[in-house]
Order: sequence, then structure tokens, then C-alpha cells
Amino acid sequence: MTAAPKLELRGLRKDFGGFTAVDSIDLEIEAGDTVALLGPSGCGKSTTLNMIVGLEEPTSGDILVDGRSVVGVPPQDRNIGLVFQDYAVFTHMSVRKNLSFGLEIRRRPRAEIGRAVDEVAELVGLSEVLDESPRVLSSSQLQRVGIGRTLIMKPSLLLLDEPLSNLETELRTAMRQQLRQLQLEYGQTLIYVTHDQIEAISLANKIAVMSMGAIRQFDSADRTYGQPAHTFVASFLGSPPMNLMEGELRREGRALCFANGSAAIALPQEVLPHGVEEGRDLVLGIRPESLQVAAGEAAMLEARVTLVEPMGPEKIATLRIGNWELKGLFAAGTRLVEGEFLSLTAQATQICLFDGASGVRLNPLRPEEPAWA
Ligand code: ATP
Repeated sequence: MTAAPKLELRGLRKDFGGFTAVDSIDLEIEAGDTVALLGPSGCGKSTTLNMIVGLEEPTSGDILVDGRSVVGVPPQDRNIGLVFQDYAVFTHMSVRKNLSFGLEIRRRPRAEIGRAVDEVAELVGLSEVLDESPRVLSSSQLQRVGIGRTLIMKPSLLLLDEPLSNLETELRTAMRQQLRQLQLEYGQTLIYVTHDQIEAISLANKIAVMSMGAIRQFDSADRTYGQPAHTFVASFLGSPPMNLMEGELRREGRALCFANGSAAIALPQEVLPHGVEEGRDLVLGIRPESLQVAAGEAAMLEARVTLVEPMGPEKIATLRIGNWELKGLFAAGTRLVEGEFLSLTAQATQICLFDGASGVRLNPLRPEEPAWA
């Protein structure tokens, strides 16, 4: 295989008429990285992939593979493979023929094609069914034919657009593991589009979280989860997602609190980023599992428990403080009584402050650390 490339998107933009589907994104993907483009339907993931592969021309900006622009280069000359979600396998041809088709069109020598088919079939686990018709294959095998057909062309960059979205839950998990294995063996730069956070976290070493044509954060799974750079990232990752509360800072004597009407959370001084003044509209974020039951002085907030939902080893509590509604995730043994008040705290490092207008994070990002530390 050719060496894995570094991919750079510089100010990449795509307008459809007056609508901006991809809004001047910048992204640097290192050679050998596995990157998930994660975001809700319509955020511009497929349009981004289509520009990289050459199916759409950018309105402006540049795409560089190993420092060289590929804008204007025809798709077949970019050496970039794309696997679609509907794996469009030719059902009238055997699996072998499906795999060899691309090389035959390129008039490669027969012996070379035979070797390549065997090698790729082994890699994607199809050696046993090479002479079968795709009609008798399972959906996971069909998906692997789709991937194998792309891999055989030895692309230096492999793009996968929701490759597992047509598979049932159990198969998705199995295919996820196979894709991970494939990536480890194949070792190429891989970009994977998904709207499923579990898929993104389990496959990628970096995640680009997209919304409304913009990349809100490009970071490791741990950091996008533990230190979201934008309220969109905070609310898109996690189940239940991060609690986000609108309010402002108030200072009473030396004490600092985050408040909205009668609702207030006492804040440790170290949560406050430089230059954030009182009275500015802010959003405070705390993950449900970061809330801990606390007594007396240690408590940061008092909330009324409105609902308790047992979830096996854990329970989810719905909590109310003034107009804020929060979710808390507690161990099953925690005493939680609907209607009662609960004193809670959270570690300063697990509290995020965002600008109320733009949603952008105000606390500086800390160096890499696991979210569960
Ligand atoms: P999905 O997961 O649903 O595929 P996505 O994140 O991949 O979503 P895109 O398919 O890139 O999103 O679409 C981004 C936006 O651009 C959408 O609002 C879509 O309607 C619009 N769009 C995409 N292609 C075109 C086109 N050819 N003409 C006009 N609008 C388009």
C-alpha cells in the first residue's frame, strides 16, 4: 500500500445556491489517524466527504493531501477510496468479480488481480465466499464486499460514509470490531462519517464534531466528552447529555455564584476563566455523573428531586433548582427520594463555562486526561 497521507482542509466551504452546507472548515488529519466526522443529520458531513473525494467541487478553500492540492483533480486520480452507506454491490457478479472489477477496468495483469483479490478477501474475511453470488450473503458480508472493493484499489486515504447504518444493532457491534481490526492491519488514514457517538468513540482516535456546517471541536474522544469546546458538543455527546444552565455570575462578598433568578450554584474561584465579568450571559455545564451528593459546607447547590429512574447499577434523578432542570447519574445504592431536597457538589475541573451568545467554551482546555479520572 502507498504511504498514509496527511489531509488538510483549509477554509473549505460549499454553498448550494444561497445555503452554506459547509462553512469554511479547517482540519488537519495526521497520517495514519482514524477520524470520525460526527454530527446530526444535515450538518454537512457527507458534503465534506464528497469534496474530499472529488464528487463535489468546493465553493472556496483548499484540500491538500501530503501538502498538494487535489481541488480540480478528477476523483479517479485522487487515490482516495469512498465506501457509501448503501454498499451498491453488483448482484449479478460473484464476490470475486465484485472485488476484481476495479482492477480489471484498469487493465491490471491477471496474476496481479488474482493475488490482490486473495489478499483483500483475507483482510475483510470473505475468502470462504469468493465464488458465491452476493444474493446469498448477509448484510455484514455485503458491507465487507463494499469495503473490499474499495481497499483493492489501494487508496491512500479511505473514507467511509455511515458504513454501518444499514446493519442491525448486533451486526453493527460486530462490524465495528472488524473495522477497528481492519484499520489496525491496514494502517491507513481513515475518515469515518457517523451520527452515532458510540460508533465514533469506539472507532476513531480523534473526533471532529460538526453542527450547521462548522467543526465545533476536533479532539480525542476523552476531551470532546470531558472538556467540550462548545455547548453543541456538550449536548451532543453523552446520555443523558451534559446539563446546561443559563445564568450569570454574581459575587456576594468573597463568594462567587452562578445564578438565574432564585436558582444559584456556589462556584469555586478556580472555575472562573480570566476576563469573565459579572453580568455577562453565560451557560454553565456539568455532566450528570459529575454531580455528587455532599453535606454541609461542601455542597454547591440544593436541588429538589422530581423523578428517580432506576437503570440497573445506576439511577438517573431529575433535579430542579428554580427554573433549571438537571439530570444526575448516581450509584443504585444512593438514597434519592422524590420530593426531597438533595445537597450536591462537583469537582471544579468538571464544571464548564460557555459564552451565552456564541456557545463557545470559556475555560481553557486542560492537557489530555481521561474523562473518568
Ligand atoms: P446526513 O447524515 O443526513 O447525510 P449530513 O451531515 O451528511 O447529513 P449533508 O448531506 O452534507 O449532511 O447536507 C448538508 C446540508 O446541505 C443539508 O441541509 C442538505 O439538505 C444540503 N445539501 C446537500 N446536498 C445538496 C445539494 N446537492 N443541493 C442542495 N442542498 C444540498
